Amino acid sequence: MQESVMQRMWDSAHLSGGNAAYVEELYELYLHDPNAVPEEWRTYFQKLPTDGSAATDVSHSTVRDHFVLLAKNQRRAQPVSAGSVSSEHEKKQVEVLRMIQAFRMRGHQAAQLDPLGLWQRTVPADLSINHYSLTDADLDTTFRTGGLFIGKEEATLREIRDALQQTYCRTIGAEFTHIVDSEQRNWFAQRLESVRGRPQFSVEVQSHLLERLTAAEGLEKYLGTKYPGTKRFGLEGGESLIPLLDEIIQRSGSYGTKEIVIGMAHRGRLNVLVNTFGKNPRDLFDEFEGKKTEGLSSGDVKYHQGFSSNVMTPGGEVHLALAFNPSHLEIVSPVVEGSVRARQDRRSDVSGDKVLPISIHGDAAFAGQGVVMETFQMSQTRGYKTGGTIHLVINNQVGFTISNPQDSRSTEYCTDVAKMIQAPILHVNGDDPEAVLFVTQLAVDYRMQFKRDVVIDLVCYRRRGHNEADEPSGTQPLMYQQISKQRTTRELYADALTSAVRHSVDDVQAKIDDYRTALDNGQHVVKSLVKEPNKELFVDWRPYLGHAWTARHDTRFELKTLQELSAKLLEIPEGFVVQRQVAKILEDRQKMAAGALPINWGYAETMAYATLLFEGHPIRMTGQDIGRGTFSHRHAVLHNQKDANAYVPLKNLYEGQPKFELYDSFLSEEAVLAFEYGYATTTPNALVIWEAQFGDFANGAQVVFDQFISSGEHKWGRLCGLTMLLPHGYEGQGPEHSSARLERYLQLCAEHNMQVCVPTTPAQIYHLLRRQVIRPLRKPLVVLTPKSLLRHKLAISTLEDLAEGSFQTVIGETDALDAKKVERVVLCSGKVYYDLLEKRRAEGREDIAIVRIEQLYPFPEEDLAEALAPYKSLKHIVWCQEEPMNQGAWYCSQHHMRRVASAHKKTLFLEYAGREGSAAPACGYASMHAEQQEKLLQDAFTV
Ligand code: AMP
Repeated sequence: MQESVMQRMWDSAHLSGGNAAYVEELYELYLHDPNAVPEEWRTYFQKLPTDGSAATDVSHSTVRDHFVLLAKNQRRAQPVSAGSVSSEHEKKQVEVLRMIQAFRMRGHQAAQLDPLGLWQRTVPADLSINHYSLTDADLDTTFRTGGLFIGKEEATLREIRDALQQTYCRTIGAEFTHIVDSEQRNWFAQRLESVRGRPQFSVEVQSHLLERLTAAEGLEKYLGTKYPGTKRFGLEGGESLIPLLDEIIQRSGSYGTKEIVIGMAHRGRLNVLVNTFGKNPRDLFDEFEGKKTEGLSSGDVKYHQGFSSNVMTPGGEVHLALAFNPSHLEIVSPVVEGSVRARQDRRSDVSGDKVLPISIHGDAAFAGQGVVMETFQMSQTRGYKTGGTIHLVINNQVGFTISNPQDSRSTEYCTDVAKMIQAPILHVNGDDPEAVLFVTQLAVDYRMQFKRDVVIDLVCYRRRGHNEADEPSGTQPLMYQQISKQRTTRELYADALTSAVRHSVDDVQAKIDDYRTALDNGQHVVKSLVKEPNKELFVDWRPYLGHAWTARHDTRFELKTLQELSAKLLEIPEGFVVQRQVAKILEDRQKMAAGALPINWGYAETMAYATLLFEGHPIRMTGQDIGRGTFSHRHAVLHNQKDANAYVPLKNLYEGQPKFELYDSFLSEEAVLAFEYGYATTTPNALVIWEAQFGDFANGAQVVFDQFISSGEHKWGRLCGLTMLLPHGYEGQGPEHSSARLERYLQLCAEHNMQVCVPTTPAQIYHLLRRQVIRPLRKPLVVLTPKSLLRHKLAISTLEDLAEGSFQTVIGETDALDAKKVERVVLCSGKVYYDLLEKRRAEGREDIAIVRIEQLYPFPEEDLAEALAPYKSLKHIVWCQEEPMNQGAWYCSQHHMRRVASAHKKTLFLEYAGREGSAAPACGYASMHAEQQEKLLQDAFTV
């Protein structure tokens, strides 16, 4: 078929002979961008019959290869005769079109992006007419503009070249030709070329820009004078950020956006707080003077603080939220995405019009941190997308003390990572505020129209060191020589406006004075700030505030309704064919609901979700394999064996039920967990769960545990009810996948910051999950979940346990032992309980009681004391664990157990039965594992 396509082309009289090279180039150009060739050629190429498949790039490139080959053969056969070339002009025309393409692709490499003028870049050869078969003599020749958006079909080469240079090589460097979708590429070309990269702004807009720059500069100067040498991570050098943010907020407001969540690192944060969010300067000054926030045991430095306010825009009131963030740059981005998604879900904003994420990055971190890539990767996935994020890079060209790009990245720009999702990248010289304004408008419009991420690379500089106590010229001598001579962005812009007589010198001075007076008076400096904010724009957290930690809450659920819900879950749509093993699980669940079979883990867990939904709580669950469960116990998503359609019973419980969202996550831990943290800190009434495929994979998200989950409440007052399910258990699977590294979580525990639980029965997971939502307390919950216990014959519960029970922090001896005979108590958590139980039963020991500690933090000392109380003749108390001695609960929890033991009987000394200390979490040899396991059980009964 393709042969005939080519043959047809070739056979056309006007395409033969010497025209081949011309057509080849034209076709090449057409393949790259159909709009790059003149209309008549485009129509011609479009009309060529294809091979019947969709006109993809692949078939295009095949067509091209064939064509080139054919052309070559033809040339060999028929030497070109001088007179057969259609015209010299036509050849030049193609060159002109190629040049237009080159500017669109590489114009940014010749743009003046560095305000300091220090970049040394080689201008690509194909941005010069001499690169083509064109010369200065052609400058006044008229050519077709072939899709160049300059408002005319034909123009002289000079006009075309000048338009391209103005559009692509001034202070904006636009990268958009890597986008595959030609509608989007055209959109950019049209927007940029039609104004030659620089729209004319009104005097009012210019005045506003100058006012915002004056505010940005004014605050830093004020703080610099009032608190000299105090760290504030000033914005100086990047002041254009303030008008930029202002434009995003106002413009997206006019699109109907109702909430904007911003994540940013330290630099410029105080400026954003005061000049964008309208934080009262007096509050900021108090912080400089060391005032503490009431109710926070730790608190945080001022440049990590979040903030909330409402501002007025042309489209109405918009709620702004600045996320709290740690020093670990970039990790806040997925947190922001999670928070935005939660707000969108709350508003049923499927398209993402109502809530907008903005991520502000540093150049070095953007290029260096892997979580940036992870966050981009989530941007279009079902479970994580937010309708496009506007990314701003405050590119001050220095990563702490690295200023040589060769040391900080292997890519040309710090933003290249964004190309992985074909995000357009708009580089802009930060000293050209009007160019900054223009790219901001483009970014907002693009995001709103195409619902995809877009990046603005604000190329600026850092007037001072990493912070104000730092001397930068020690490490960056040349850059700082230039910076010392550099006039500020505001000064440069004020000069430009006054010399263009669009602004008077007095106006410029008045803006400076007004701002300073406002600060002196401690007044808000954001004119659009809404003094009486509409509280309906955000969630009311008051019901969740001020609750002391308590284990107890009524998590019972009426049996009849539970059975009805259970029956509803088993109603599968007509004709839906469930896979054989899954069908067996469902059959068993039917028996469990009827009381004919003991309840297993999968059933109890599913019923926890069903009952919570029934009680009005939305649920969101994500994780690797969460639909099925790593060990196939959950099967929350059924897959039709006939057509692979999915059916989720928990979504179909009853009309108008709360949302049940479940997504298998992409293969990330760090960004995904940060996302869920952001989601949970924004959605207090929901059960939000992240499940690790194996517990140890959570180590890829350690930063999220350390800097957000364990400490966010105490640093920032942000409550979080996120639940993390981490499969754990020593089953001879080797060093990986045995341990969820319990010790790591316990080591982070203090001040009732989170809960660490190891439930051992189906009823326990049921009540634990229900407790997590039903109690108004919002604390992160780390659950070490089982693997083999999911199917263990002894790890079972009854319907009554679900209907009537509650979560037990400690489970005392369950066999009917004579308490008087008990001389030894073995304490343990998790799966080892069943190994101990079976051994004791097998050996007929009546002197040993086994007590399970199901909640390791907050440690239930009182409940443990109660469990020990019956045993008056105790001689030994042993902690038994499967983990090596340096891991598991031994080091972190023994002081609690000792305290309870000695209170029970002064002479009782807590002993240890478990694996020896070990560098790896578990051994890799099955025989060694079995030996170790046998020994630790033996030790528990004898040490
Ligand atoms: P935001 O929508 O994030 O700006 O939050 C609005 C208000 O809700 C904040 O000013 C806080 O008072 C409160 N709030 C938001 N998130 C939390 C949280 N995770 N814990 C406690 N209060 C919160």
